[in-house]
Amino acid sequence: MRLRNSLTGNKEVFFAEDNHVSVYVCGVTPYDITHLGHAFTYTHFDVLVRYLRYLGYRVTYVQNLTDVDDDILRKAKEFGKNWRLLGEKNADRFLEDMKWLGNLQPDIYPRATDVIPDIINLAQNLLTKGWAYEKNGNVYFKVYSYTPFGRLSKLPEDQWLIVANERGNHPQDPNKQNPIDFVLWQSAREGEPSWPSPWGMGRPGWHIECSVMSMKFLGSPVDIKGGGADLIFPHHECSLAQSECATGEPLARYWVHTGMVRYKGEKMSKSLGNMVFVKDLKELGPNATRLCLLNHHYGRTWLFDEDEKKKATEQAGLFQEVWRRQSGHGSRLAPEPYEKRLQDALADDLDTPATLRIMQDLSTDILRDDSRNVADAKGLLNLVCTILGLEIRYGG
Ligand SMILES: [Zn+2]
Repeated sequence: MRLRNSLTGNKEVFFAEDNHVSVYVCGVTPYDITHLGHAFTYTHFDVLVRYLRYLGYRVTYVQNLTDVDDDILRKAKEFGKNWRLLGEKNADRFLEDMKWLGNLQPDIYPRATDVIPDIINLAQNLLTKGWAYEKNGNVYFKVYSYTPFGRLSKLPEDQWLIVANERGNHPQDPNKQNPIDFVLWQSAREGEPSWPSPWGMGRPGWHIECSVMSMKFLGSPVDIKGGGADLIFPHHECSLAQSECATGEPLARYWVHTGMVRYKGEKMSKSLGNMVFVKDLKELGPNATRLCLLNHHYGRTWLFDEDEKKKATEQAGLFQEVWRRQSGHGSRLAPEPYEKRLQDALADDLDTPATLRIMQDLSTDILRDDSRNVADAKGLLNLVCTILGLEIRYGG
């Protein structure tokens, strides 16, 4: 298959040694309920994993849970709740939503707080090698010491601070040598959880958590690393920099990013009040919801609206009708031409919209004439449904 690699910007032929593929997808910070953007990202990575397995690869899929970071601690404080209980409750709801959507559970589902000693080791490694510095119990990565910084996002240097500040950077931190330096370890603050370290009590920074979990559970380099496109900078740029400086190895071979979901003409955001949650789509059922997501290529940003729901419901109905259709005893409907088109679509950077269009053509063809033998054609449709994670036979 060919897969678009964000690092090179090109569609590249995918290969993996030993027929094994390691996949690391940045998971949620469980401080809120699952929205459509989450559903889009994790459903497409689920399809990628299913497709790689269909191609014959053994896949190890890791998706982390960022169970300690600024967002979750802020939210816990706001509601006067224990951060760990709040995180566990939201993580359970997230897993329920993923299950409802038909997403397979990742093979390993680590939490940042499971790997604190490894995080300390990585920060120590970067300090020893001169890529990081310590000040008042905080450890920072020296961004300007790593000259290729910015090569994943291709973001111009004059944009680094602007974008980083929108996404959790604290430029005013007086302990930093440069406002763009990012925190590997931060000293304990009043009322926040903390762990012992060589620099005193504290907690990890966000970017280092993912580097450590990726390297600990999948080694270096991981074959495919991904997440939503809003993670490219600074999260993935920083993860790449610190991992490569620590190990001398690339963090990942292929970087894969999913597009954003827009609603009512804007990027979904809490401040605009235009969020769509998975729970809002329950009336559609899991198949139609999944079809809403897969009708858009994973890498493109798209606009969700009422027409999307209508289209997906009709598609689900069509596939179900095929499922109920008895095969006749007349001439055989040959699925081979459709099979070739479907294989090409999936192999072309996982083109799910094209795949679904071909499945619709095939369905219409199956339903055209009652007398034909459509057993093989139905078998093909069923196979592709399995790759896409659609449970048509059970309805919904
Ligand atoms: Zn991450």
